[in-house]
Amino acid sequence: MQVEEQKLQLELWLETQGMPVLPIETLVVMTNPRVILDATPNSLYQEKVIPLSKLASKLREINQHYTHEHLTLAETRRLASYVASQHKPWKPNVFQRLGIGPGEIRRGVRCPSCRTLPMKWERLRFECSACGMRSADAYVGALKEFFLLFGDQITNRQFRWWTGVGSESTAKKQLRRSGFNRVGDKRTAIYKLNFNYDEDFDEFVRWKQADKFRKRALIF
Ligand SMILES: [Zn+2]
Repeated sequence: MQVEEQKLQLELWLETQGMPVLPIETLVVMTNPRVILDATPNSLYQEKVIPLSKLASKLREINQHYTHEHLTLAETRRLASYVASQHKPWKPNVFQRLGIGPGEIRRGVRCPSCRTLPMKWERLRFECSACGMRSADAYVGALKEFFLLFGDQITNRQFRWWTGVGSESTAKKQLRRSGFNRVGDKRTAIYKLNFNYDEDFDEFVRWKQADKFRKRALIF
């Protein structure tokens, strides 16, 4: 269902971009080698859901269904780079969507180990009161959360408000240590958070999945 929906959306998008109508094939490729696929023989699923090892032969098989070329290799490459250039990360306004204000968000640095909020800044590192974990750079997670909620710019004052770090010079050291570009200087300095949506939020996705399982475990 998902891949068919994506096909439809791609068709619509290509149309709005003034592209010629192209045949679009769909496949669901399971890349985890430990997945075992068990489908009813001769069913649609057996054709559409395949392991990675079958991809090459499947592509040859699909190719044979076509008698003429719809796009040359050069056109295909151009289209591929155009698609990539049109990519925009999804940036929802969380506050608007949930109908809450920034003041209602629980602030602080979250423990990377047990996720308790907030960790306490003590003797040059953050300490978790629940599990005892200590970490000097746990604030990076808080910066990521700030980035998702408020956007890609943060000042020293905002950093202290968000993380609970009291000292301006400590905040400055941490912001500098994170290596982000700084615009302006002294009190007006703004740090540009350039986290990457594709690479920097894996742990959040894992947490979300863990939450889902926990909720399910509570229901049963
Ligand atoms: Zn902890």
